[in-house]
Amino acid sequence: MADATIIDGKAVATRLRKRIAAAAAQLREEHAITAGLAAVLVGDDPASQVYIRSKARACTAAGLASFEFRLPGDAAPATILDTVQKLNLDERVDGILVQLPLPRGIDPAAIIGAIDPAKDVDGFHPVNVGRLWSGNPGLIPCTPQGILLLLRAAEVPLTGAEAVVLGRSAIVGRPVAALLLSADCTVTIAHSKSRDLPGLCRRADILVASIGRPQMVTGDWLKPGAAIIDVGINRIATEAGSRLVGDVNFETARRVAGKITPVPGGVGPMTIACLLRNTVLAACRRRGLADPAGL
Ligand code: NDP
Repeated sequence: MADATIIDGKAVATRLRKRIAAAAAQLREEHAITAGLAAVLVGDDPASQVYIRSKARACTAAGLASFEFRLPGDAAPATILDTVQKLNLDERVDGILVQLPLPRGIDPAAIIGAIDPAKDVDGFHPVNVGRLWSGNPGLIPCTPQGILLLLRAAEVPLTGAEAVVLGRSAIVGRPVAALLLSADCTVTIAHSKSRDLPGLCRRADILVASIGRPQMVTGDWLKPGAAIIDVGINRIATEAGSRLVGDVNFETARRVAGKITPVPGGVGPMTIACLLRNTVLAACRRRGLADPAGL
């Protein structure tokens, strides 16, 4: 059997970002609206600072406004809530993201719950979670949304497909399962207490691996020809230093799968692109405008 086709997330994300830039330009020209994303960073976690910077750069490149609010790591919950409330009311701001993780002692649910659901571009507010599971339109979390867009771009048949999602986090596993269900897949969600993971995976026409366990899923777990979406981002030590690997053992999986995402260059690039997409969608929807064509 031939090796799997690689699903090129970088290329799909680049095309999506061009469409987002075109939609943002149209909003400016036809409605004098510049879609804007506000990021709230509490504390000085180095990884979070890198993420926030790359999100700001991506906004600028797509013609979106970006605003950054930095609070000290010992900020009181009331101060963070006050910042969120101000952004809820700020007309320049269409999307609000509070960078996670928050410092110890701050309840993320309380902060996320204070964001206006119409501006909740991470899709983590309980109102948006409820809309997703009830099959109603809302803002959809970025990584799961990116996964669905990748499957569609790779022309993976969804209707009636057996989809297995490894991992049940609120950020990836659960929302991706909801989206696959809405796309007419038959969905199984597996987690650390599930029995016989290899057996479950072998049933999958579509396997989404989001467990944060380096290269755990090997080729002998896969149904021949399956579409494999590897969400994991794990840094492992090598003789030369370190490198990033997914939750799937790429070398053995590519010999069995039909289509597969690489790490890096698969799901990762889609996540920021979908954040920009949500910001433009939020800018339109909260003003009663239709979603831009092509998004
Ligand atoms: P979490 O740690 O929040 O969740 C991991 C899930 O995997 C849990 O549901 C856990 O089960 C399950 N799990 C862990 N170990 C096993 C195991 N041995 N067997 C079966 N299930 C297991 O992680 P996230 O969902 O946040 O992230 C998952 C991976 O995706 C990480 O590598 C992360 O870096 C990456 N990621 C990538 C993104 C991207 O843009 N590409 C975005 C977000 C995450 P249980 O619930 O029982 O504990």
